[in-house]
Amino acid sequence: MTQLAEGLDDLRTNLQGFVLAPGDEGYDEARRVWNAGIDRRPAVIARCRSAADVSRAVLFARDHGLEIAVRGGAHSTGGKCVVDDGLMIDLSLLNQVTVDPETRQARVGGGALLGQLDAAAQEHGLATPAGMVSHTGVAGLTLGGGMGWLTRKHGLSIDNLTAVEIVTADGRIRRASDDEDPDLFWAVRGGGGNFGVVTEFEFRLHEQAPMIQFGLAFWDLERGAEVLRMARDVIAKLPDDVNIVVGALSAPPAPFIPAEYHFRPGYALIVNGFGSAEEHAAVMSEITSTVPPLVEFSTPMPYVALQQMLDEANAWGFLAYDKGLYIDDFTDEVIQVITEHVPLKKSPGSVLLSYRLDGAYSRVPEDATAFSGSRAPGYGLFLVALAPTPDLFEPDRAWVRTFWEAMVPVSRGIGSYVNAESEADDDRIRASYGPKYDRLAAIKATYDPGNLFHLNANIKPAPA
Ligand code: FAD
Repeated sequence: MTQLAEGLDDLRTNLQGFVLAPGDEGYDEARRVWNAGIDRRPAVIARCRSAADVSRAVLFARDHGLEIAVRGGAHSTGGKCVVDDGLMIDLSLLNQVTVDPETRQARVGGGALLGQLDAAAQEHGLATPAGMVSHTGVAGLTLGGGMGWLTRKHGLSIDNLTAVEIVTADGRIRRASDDEDPDLFWAVRGGGGNFGVVTEFEFRLHEQAPMIQFGLAFWDLERGAEVLRMARDVIAKLPDDVNIVVGALSAPPAPFIPAEYHFRPGYALIVNGFGSAEEHAAVMSEITSTVPPLVEFSTPMPYVALQQMLDEANAWGFLAYDKGLYIDDFTDEVIQVITEHVPLKKSPGSVLLSYRLDGAYSRVPEDATAFSGSRAPGYGLFLVALAPTPDLFEPDRAWVRTFWEAMVPVSRGIGSYVNAESEADDDRIRASYGPKYDRLAAIKATYDPGNLFHLNANIKPAPA
């Protein structure tokens, strides 16, 4: 028996969860990730049930010289959570969420999905900022930052993180917070999976009424420049309780979109109100009276439904590729680049989405977390190619790359939100973290000097 096979027998015996190797039933399903373009075959998949399991798996990989990939919700477009011939630490069984309504805290397993967190918190009329697609993993999203509908009101997901339980490269199970391993706690708030495997997150929750106000307006491609200029003006004076996502996208085949517009490319403003119906209506009215849309729709909607609204359009099984950027504003130069490139996309699924970053987001001091972006008011942009087949996907991957190159000179530069990147090289990762990179590299050298956790937006350990 080889050393790996012997070790594997031990791992199978000692894990509370279970081990899958090539040929085992369930192996092919377990190695599958959200992006259908990724097809990797780990030597071992450890489906862990506890932090102790994760610790055993980490030490097993170290002892056998296996690369480690950590799977939260499997949504990284680059497929960072699965590795050929290495060990995949699969956290999908560690997905419990418990909410304490008294202290307004949630404890969330390292493999939980956003929808599980939203549902558990909403049972008590509570919520914390998360992303916009409910089948995304809490772990990867949070460790990179976590932008969503509540970001203007309550900040990023990491701004609401109070502690983590984490297994570091030495196999130790630690708790990191402002009081315990504070450097490590700083680093995991934006530094991605570089510092260990997070087995539990603790979040602060906020009151969130069960119903919100949803609004959408959609325009033809030709109106792009007018819409973006209007969005710039409206967003500049938005009340804190309203958030707007600007999208260049194809109209979805949703019941509230007339059939003749389904899949038509254009521009959309998605306008969500977390305050009064009047406040939301006033914003919608300003939008639709300034540039009359092709389609306009407003309705009260459950908060959890809002959080699932984009789920189907972003279902598992598409080919995907993305790149990110930050902009200060929709300046005339930005608008010109966007309106030149948007009409060239081929697949209805491909989009440009912009997340407004200001309000509570900007009230967090620049160096309070390791987040890969400035806290100055601005926008986080995701340029995404999403298609069911290679003939639609390949031109749109090229479209994302060309579009991104054209945007760089009118943006904050080559740095970006690390969670919006299928493939970022070292220069871009350094640029994304800016002056924080050196501190992250020093913390990496303390907790993971051998760079065991490197399948991520990798921070190289500082030389000793
Ligand atoms: P995974 O692929 O499982 O993991 C991503 C990275 O995190 C990998 O490097 C992995 O090793 C590491 N990792 C995962 N779990 C752990 C853990 N427990 N401990 C340590 N490291 C871990 N981002 C936003 O901010 N807002 C959005 O609204 C948003 N919407 C999205 C919608 C879709 C459809 C997709 C595909 C992505 C979206 N994103 C969004 C980006 C998202 O934040 C990243 O893709 C994120 O990496 C997904 O996390 P995951 O756990 O699902 O992915």
